[in-house]
Amino acid sequence: MDKKALSEKSKLQLQVLCSEIGERRVGSDANRKATAYTESQLKESGWQTETTGLSVIDWQTDGAALTCHGLSFEVFSSQYSLGCLVEGELLAINTVTLLEKTDIQDKIVLLYGEIATQQIAPKHFPFWNPEAHQQLISLLENGHPKALVCATARNSATAGGVYPFPLFEDGDFDIPSVFMKETEGERLLAYTGQTVKLASKATRIPETAFNVIARRGNNPTGKRIVITAHIDTKIGTPGAIDNGTGITVLLLLAELLKDDAPNYPIELVVFNGEDYYGAPGQVKYIEQHAGRFGDILLNINIDGAGYKEGLSCFSPIGLPEDLSDTLHEVLREAPELIEGKPWYQGDHSLFLQQGCPAIAVTSQWFIENMECQEITHTPKDTPGIVDYERVAECALGIAAFIRKL
Ligand SMILES: [Zn+2]
Repeated sequence: MDKKALSEKSKLQLQVLCSEIGERRVGSDANRKATAYTESQLKESGWQTETTGLSVIDWQTDGAALTCHGLSFEVFSSQYSLGCLVEGELLAINTVTLLEKTDIQDKIVLLYGEIATQQIAPKHFPFWNPEAHQQLISLLENGHPKALVCATARNSATAGGVYPFPLFEDGDFDIPSVFMKETEGERLLAYTGQTVKLASKATRIPETAFNVIARRGNNPTGKRIVITAHIDTKIGTPGAIDNGTGITVLLLLAELLKDDAPNYPIELVVFNGEDYYGAPGQVKYIEQHAGRFGDILLNINIDGAGYKEGLSCFSPIGLPEDLSDTLHEVLREAPELIEGKPWYQGDHSLFLQQGCPAIAVTSQWFIENMECQEITHTPKDTPGIVDYERVAECALGIAAFIRKL
């Protein structure tokens, strides 16, 4: 297939994933539709597939409301939080030091300023969990407040383009919480010490989601190449760049490589949970392959590819010299692909932590704007911001690399 045919194909696939199916939050029907569709496409290209069920929770809210003396403040249920209907004294806390010396039992606590600048890593998030975050969580849990109101500013580095962002997005953290804009928090600050009422109509629903793995090549003793992309989205976004295009590249590769006899067995992994608090699909994959990561030659992870501005970036991380030489050869022959600097906010980090080298594939624009972009995890991440030629180029570049090994 040439680039033009691949571009057209990628448009059709993205249409199904992001327009017909749309938001693919973990645990939702749409998420299961997306994994079933992807598996059927992989099978159609002649790959052997395997699915693994994951116990997850789906989450829904009918909204949240905060009032004080008849005045309303705009708040949103924190994703994956428990719901609540509480009334209590409002306390305001802006630093950990203040939290340490304040009795917050049965209070409704407004977290604002310094303490609320960065999204708190979920309690059981395996890949990134700063001690300061764990300390904050345990101070709050031990303090037994009735609920938390979090006033947050923009922070693209940890929350994507979302503003305000939920300070907590954690199905394992059981203090009910809502979040609000920083400016709304300033308004609320004037009511410290007064009685406020908070309602959040959120519910957690036990559900199932799936990882899909497709395999080809019958060289069972050889090291294999693992190519990954996550299929889930955050709540409230159709997830085109993050990461409909990644799944599309996997599907294009399934077709491009179907008649090859590669020197290394290839595994295509559709991960479920990169944008979900517990990363269940990633954790399951690590469990399933414990002690056997030495069998992996390298990981190629696609996330954030195909943005309409700029070119596509292949970022080598920890590659041994021979693989690095091969990658440079591919990049020389394909000037539309450029070498990117390392970045770590993706599933390739899981492989790096297990000692496997990786190539992360994304858009140059995202690497350059990771700290300030306002697109991922928002409704703006639609097929309209995708250049299908870029998507096709990523698939062609990865296929060329694999053929040279
Ligand atoms: Zn992503």
